[in-house]
Amino acid sequence: MKKNFHTVRGYQLLEQKKKTLTPAMEDYLEMIYRSSLKDGYIRISTLSALLNVRAPSTTKMVQKLTALDLLHYKKYGIIFLTESGKEIGKFLLERHNTVETFLKFLGVGENLLVETELIEHNISLHTLQLLDIFNQFLKENPYVKEQFEQFKKMQTIKNTTDSRTPNWKSPGIKDSKKD
Ligand code: MN
Repeated sequence: MKKNFHTVRGYQLLEQKKKTLTPAMEDYLEMIYRSSLKDGYIRISTLSALLNVRAPSTTKMVQKLTALDLLHYKKYGIIFLTESGKEIGKFLLERHNTVETFLKFLGVGENLLVETELIEHNISLHTLQLLDIFNQFLKENPYVKEQFEQFKKMQTIKNTTDSRTPNWKSPGIKDSKKD
């Protein structure tokens, strides 16, 4: 009945690469994994567009990830994940989804994606596993969610504007414009 985090292997591989994998690299890997699920590959140009960065920045990053044996970089700008790249990518995507599901439950609305991106790079595996269990618990006990909604209605939440969200970009990903 207990579902363990599927991709602990991916986490272990991530730990091994921890010194070299920046949040930006994690974002690239996650996006490459997410986008190559269907066809098994992705083009550099597509990746640039998805991450909203210029092609030279993407190429530079792809070269770094290739040097770490996480990617195969073939001709014509086509990228494939290696086995370790896939394992790590799968973990990163699952981590993203777990954090996002939890925040959605709390009622985070328009900044859901931004908040998820800010949290995911810094969360420990232990906390992530707890969030995953909590998400499952809520799924199996919908009345808890209803009770929480009722309780929330009785509280006053200050609706402050978060100054860092408007022009937000993924933490690590920087465009080469200021290079
Ligand atoms: Mn993400």
